[in-house]
Amino acid sequence: ADPINDVEKEVKEWARLKKTEIDDLKRQEKFRRDFLSNISHEFKTPLFAIQGYIEALQDDGFEDREMATQFLEKASKNVDRLSYLINDLDEISKLESGEIPINYTKFKINDLIKEVFESLELKSKQHNIKLTFKQKYDDALFVNADREKIRQVLVNLIDNSFKYGKDGGNTAVSIFTLHDQVLIEVTDDGIGIEEKYLTRLFERFFRTDSSRSRQIGGSGLGLAIVKHIIEAHQQTISVRSTEGLGSTFGFTLEMAKQTLPFPNIPVLKS
Ligand code: ADP
Repeated sequence: ADPINDVEKEVKEWARLKKTEIDDLKRQEKFRRDFLSNISHEFKTPLFAIQGYIEALQDDGFEDREMATQFLEKASKNVDRLSYLINDLDEISKLESGEIPINYTKFKINDLIKEVFESLELKSKQHNIKLTFKQKYDDALFVNADREKIRQVLVNLIDNSFKYGKDGGNTAVSIFTLHDQVLIEVTDDGIGIEEKYLTRLFERFFRTDSSRSRQIGGSGLGLAIVKHIIEAHQQTISVRSTEGLGSTFGFTLEMAKQTLPFPNIPVLKS
């Protein structure tokens, strides 16, 4: 044994560990900086728009009533966008800080899907999209997950299928089972997504050019929230899409083992 050599090895190992630690901190710092600059950019766009419409009204917009109504509507759309942003940011920061832990319960997935459908019925009519539930499995399929968070996942995915759907289009929710997992898919026949974007969809603030140029309201955080929730459950989320034809977003959940009640065994009396 060579004690000097051993000490030298130890010091090298220590330096290596410190370096990875520092690299990690640098990465986190860069992430925070990018996040902040994204946020300010996302806030500026609707704010400038609101400011623009107000200025136009102040200048001479009030004289033309029709134009004034239009400006006010546009300003109000941008106020909506700001409020989506604030809600989603609040949600994602709570999720990422672990402030709201995953609260597992066993529940019937079909019941939750039906509830979500009821809550989105009006919206689907407004978008003129037919929402169907392809129910292949019996009503007693239980999953083990955070019911409220999975509700949000379903709402975000179905809501996107409306936003990026076609007038008169269809959205279907299907359930499949694989071993001890349940796969839930939300399929639409909407505008679809270019292949080059597929890997970036789940990034915060990412929106495709078509969603920006079509002026479809949104924060670019909905799918980041979905991904976070599914990964916190140690499950997976995936997407497949063909531009112009539609998209399918799928996520897995843990199937809950059912404990069957003991059968009634007649008690023999002697
Ligand atoms: P938002 O809808 O608020 O922009 P999301 O994170 O929910 O943000 O989605 C990110 C982007 O992914 C959207 O801007 C849109 O370009 C694209 N996208 C999401 N869902 C669909 C879908 N069902 N069909 C087509 N594009 C979609």
